[in-house]
Amino acid sequence: MNAPHANPSAATVPGPGSPRPRTHPTLAPHTPAEPRAGASEAAPRASEAPADVVVVGGGIVGLAVAWRAARAGLAVTVVDPAPGTGASRAAAGMLAPVSEVTYTEEPLLRLGMASLSRWPAFAAELSQDAGTDVDYRTEGTLDVAFGADDLEALGELAGFMEKLALPVERLTGRECRRAEPMLAPSVRGGLLASGDAWVDPRRVTAALLAALTRRGATLVEGRVRGLDVRGDAVRGVRLADGGAVAADRVVLAAGAWSGSLDGLPPEVLPPVRPVKGQIMRLRGVPGFLGRCVRGVVHGSSAYMVPRGDGEIVLGATQEEMGFDTRVTAGALWELLRDARELVPGITELEVADVSAGLRPGTPDNLPVVGRTALEGLLLATGHHRGGVLLTPLTADFVAGELTGAPDVRDGDPPVEAICSPLRFAGRPRHPGDGTRAGERP
Ligand SMILES: Cc1cc2nc3c(=O)[nH]c(=O)nc-3n(C[C@H](O)[C@H](O)[C@H](O)COP(=O)(O)OP(=O)(O)OC[C@H]3O[C@@H](n4cnc5c(N)ncnc54)[C@H](O)[C@@H]3O)c2cc1C
Repeated sequence: MNAPHANPSAATVPGPGSPRPRTHPTLAPHTPAEPRAGASEAAPRASEAPADVVVVGGGIVGLAVAWRAARAGLAVTVVDPAPGTGASRAAAGMLAPVSEVTYTEEPLLRLGMASLSRWPAFAAELSQDAGTDVDYRTEGTLDVAFGADDLEALGELAGFMEKLALPVERLTGRECRRAEPMLAPSVRGGLLASGDAWVDPRRVTAALLAALTRRGATLVEGRVRGLDVRGDAVRGVRLADGGAVAADRVVLAAGAWSGSLDGLPPEVLPPVRPVKGQIMRLRGVPGFLGRCVRGVVHGSSAYMVPRGDGEIVLGATQEEMGFDTRVTAGALWELLRDARELVPGITELEVADVSAGLRPGTPDNLPVVGRTALEGLLLATGHHRGGVLLTPLTADFVAGELTGAPDVRDGDPPVEAICSPLRFAGRPRHPGDGTRAGERP
């Protein structure tokens, strides 16, 4: 990911990251109820049929949890004012635990590897359920270096990866260009992570919505204002329009907004903060690149992801800017400048789309998934830079918690221990650990 962009004052571009036309008219519609006063004290009036489980948030994580739960036979309601328009719409879709490995994040690597191994079946089952393809690709990632320092750093990283028995291959500059002829002639060497994959997250969320329709799930196009908590247990959700949905189990999967709901005891609210990412899509031709390409340019990590239809995704900034989703000229300039160093030919391509999304970051960069101290409330959030990668593992884990039939496979890390929401209980909240006011989607 690129170095943080600190300048908040660049121009606003009304990018295509704004809400798209709806693609799921057949999901059960929600009829807004009359507004009510004093909703937080009284038991809310139900405006929707009760469900076995309500999922708050229809990003890739919430939709996948809902789909896996619906497949397991539960009556599921998803509530979101604009499903599929959050971070999941901006995401590049790299499923790259190997090429994204860092020296200090081994638990995250283990989660990523376990989730990557679930992606082939997840993509196949989803495509079958939805009747659409999700552009799941498995040609790997090529990480390249230009200068002697970058080459040395890449060599050290390769040694670390080899110690962890990760599948990587060291390539010379010539071998890199043979693998990817569009690469700059100045590339001096690289690492091929052949096990890495990628997917088109926009296709995945559209497919999940279609699959949920087919499975009879309900979508309420509204905003959850808070949870209905009675005693020590959750009893459903309260909607911003005054309505409610009753359910004894609620999964909070509202991405970067997960820390903003009313009615939750502070020790249960996840310490999630928004981490802005700006990204650009170019219209290329199929085969322009054969795999994901990344490298360190001007001290920042830049990447390019090719889609099956020829689109090339250039990413991405990483900025601590609160809930700001403006697309700025400075960020786009840096993305293009760095990508051109990697692959000079991209300057010939047409710009198709620019967008910004808010990654749900956590204090330890690990997701917050599983049961909370509040009976009936589960969290599925905090996936930060890896929410697309971690979707199958998260969805299977949460569905297992909901049905009482855990789906644990050989080599899985202890998801419950690594991701438990309870690890933050009693921890003082800091500025930036989520937020409460004025930041509704
Ligand atoms: C530029 C960029 C590039 C990325 N690239 C990658 C990548 O290559 N690989 C990868 O694995 N990850 C990537 N990520 C990270 C990934 O996008 C996120 O981790 C993931 O999308 C999080 O999904 P989510 O469902 O939790 O959140 P979101 O997609 O943000 O969805 C949250 C949903 O909750 C809804 N919501 C919010 N508040 C409420 C409320 N009160 N009531 C009801 N609904 C509500 C919102 O409308 C939204 O639809 C990238 C992110 C960005 C920004």
